[in-house]
Order: sequence, then C-alpha cells, then structure tokens
Amino acid sequence: MSATDVMTERSFYAKVLEATPSGERLRLCLECGNCSGICPFGYLMLYPPSRMIAMMRADRINKVVETDTVWMCVSCYACTAVCPSKIPLTPGLMAGIKEELILAGNVPAELQSALANSQRYGNPQGESPRKRADWTLGIQPEVRIMAKHKQSVDVLWFVGDYASYHPRVQAATKALAKVLNALGVDFGILGPDETSDGDSQRLAGERGLFEMLAEKNGKALGRYQFNQIITTDPHAYNAIKNEYPALGISYPVQHYTEFLAERIDVLKLLMKQQISAKITYHDPCYLGRANGIFDPPRDLLCAIPGVELVEMTHNHTNSLCCGGGGGGMWLDGFQWEKAHVRLSDWRVREAMNAGADVLAVACPYETPRFEDAAKTMPGAEALKVRDIAELLAEALGV
Ligand code: SF4
Ligand code: SF4
Repeated sequence: MSATDVMTERSFYAKVLEATPSGERLRLCLECGNCSGICPFGYLMLYPPSRMIAMMRADRINKVVETDTVWMCVSCYACTAVCPSKIPLTPGLMAGIKEELILAGNVPAELQSALANSQRYGNPQGESPRKRADWTLGIQPEVRIMAKHKQSVDVLWFVGDYASYHPRVQAATKALAKVLNALGVDFGILGPDETSDGDSQRLAGERGLFEMLAEKNGKALGRYQFNQIITTDPHAYNAIKNEYPALGISYPVQHYTEFLAERIDVLKLLMKQQISAKITYHDPCYLGRANGIFDPPRDLLCAIPGVELVEMTHNHTNSLCCGGGGGGMWLDGFQWEKAHVRLSDWRVREAMNAGADVLAVACPYETPRFEDAAKTMPGAEALKVRDIAELLAEALGV
C-alpha cells in the first residue's frame, strides 16, 4: 500500500458498509473479547477481531494490513456466532481486511494460486472445466447434464468444485447420485456449465472474483428449467441462499441433507443393510453455525439401522472448524508454519475421545482433511471418515 492510499478508519468502514449487510454494526463493539477468545487461531493472530476493531477505532487499521497473521482466519464464523452485538465479523470485518491485504499484495502464494485458478478455470484447483462432469462416467441410470438433456428437471444439483474434481470426494458424489436415483428423484447437473460457487473466494477477501463467478453461475442457471437447487457443499448452499439474491440470482435451495431428510420415511423403507457403528457427526461451519442446519444430518444418521449417534465435545453451534472453509483449504502451508498444528487434528482427536468408529461429514472439504489427520495421528488409524451420502448408499445397498 502506498503512502498516498493509506486506509483510514472511515474508508475501511465505508467499504465494509458497502459489501456487508448490517456492516454498520461494526460501530457497536462492546470490547467484550468473546470473538478473540473463541477464535481457534486467535492466539496466533497479532490482531484478532476485537483488537482489529480497537485498531480501527484508533484510526490505525492500516497497521493491520502490514501484518500477515490475518491469514490465520479460516472464516469459521465462530466469532460472528458469539458476538453479543451481532456484528458480521466473518463476512464484514475479516473478509474486508483480507481484501485490503490482497490489494496491498500481502497474500500467501498458495492462496494467490487458488484465486488465479478460480479466475482462469472457474475452480480453485485449476482443473479443466470440460472435465467437471467426468465423475458421472459409469453411473447408471446416467446422470443427466442439462445442456445435453434439453428438458426441465425437478431438481438441479449444484455439485461444486471439490465434489466434482477431488478423487476422494468423488466417491461421496457418486454415492449421492446413487441415493438420488434410488429415491427416483428427477435431477440434472450443470456439468461443464457449472463454475465455482465463489463463497470461499469471497470470504478470503476476493469479493470481485466472487461476483464474477456468481454471475457466470447465474447465467448458466438461467438457461434451464427446474424447480429447486440442491447442493453438496455447504459453502455453495450459503452462497446461493444468502449471497446470490443480492446479485439478482434467486432460487429455492437446500443442502442435500435437508432434501434427503424430508424423504426419510421412504429412505427407511429402502434401507437393507445394517451399519453397526458408533458414529459422530461433524457440523460444517456453513451448514450449522452459519445457517442453523443441525438436525437433518443427524436425523439421516439415526435412520440407518444399527447406528448409535454420539456427540463430540464441540457440537452444534460450538462445533470446531475443519480448517478448510473460507480459503483455509488454500492456506494450509502458511497456517502450518505459524501453528504447527492442524484444526483437523483437533477434530479427529475429539472423535476418538467420543469413542466413535466413524466420523461422519456433510461437506466435501472434510473427508480428505480428516482422513489425512487420522492417518498421521497415533491411535486414530481405525477411525473411518465417511460422508453421510456414502453411509446412506451403503445402507441402501446401492
Ligand atoms: S471467522 Fe473464525 S478463524 Fe476467523 S476470526 Fe472469526 S473465529 Fe477466528
Ligand atoms: S464479540 Fe463482538 S462485541 Fe465482543 S469484542 Fe468481539 S466484536 Fe466486540
């Protein structure tokens, strides 16, 4: 940042106001410190949220931009959830500061690469958009791709980046396709027409990129006829539900666990296999804490014959972040260097302490992160990490 464009308290506040609903609440901080206390990496931040607000009030916010520990923020929403003044800390303050760091060129290389890939290829991994539906090969009945199908469907499944491309997560994506087929759902996917939902890029400070990606998705969605959207990814759900409408893109949307939980009676009739296991469920930040969806995933697990559901110490609103959302996925190296611990390790340890055989997840970021943590943690080798869609497919015998 040059001497001529030093950010002032006023200019920063004006930007937050413009980008964030209820941004004006930033002025209502009580200095209670709850936000910094609950932050999983707050102890490593030079300016955790409450100190950042203090710097803003002292008109020294430009000093925060000169540090890099803001990149320890994994956008987990915990600070926002506990703030008594209901300040939108995660999408307003933290994303706003990250945007300033990006403008100042103060960005870890791995994040920069994910953002550049998102701009160029429409996904953070840098995969070919033409390969987005390759995971569907071999699935019967065939998964319909809207551009080829040329007919309306009841449900448009927004599959998302990691569920489409990541080799481990593709297994869960295929499982969900089989569960939808078993239920006789009339569904289709956008395939190569789909672009990253952009939510994690937005939370990582790239609001302009988010808007570009959202507009591309808006145009693709506008070409087809369907009654509702379902998503694999809680971040896609959050974007389509809470962020896209402000850009004129508005559709009814459910996370896949909500959609399936509404059909639980039919699922129960179709389940043939017992899964005798103690299962614990990890609430993803953008399904649970940010959007209040806690029961449907648990209801689905409890519907599987043989399952005993056990809770970890941190559950529901108080769940621990896996470390992947809101750009955390693209800051692993940076955060490891600062912390020498991964949030996914903490979570796997909690699952073990709860006596679980299986750690169930409902977000595509989580399966590979928790599996990696379980592989390297002594005593956790036997812990299985399964997406709820995989467990349902197994119970259905599909
Ligand atoms: S969103 Fe999570 S990681 Fe970021 S500052 Fe808030 S509590 Fe900390
Ligand atoms: S929790 Fe809210 S009110 Fe309390 S210090 Fe943080 S921002 Fe201020």
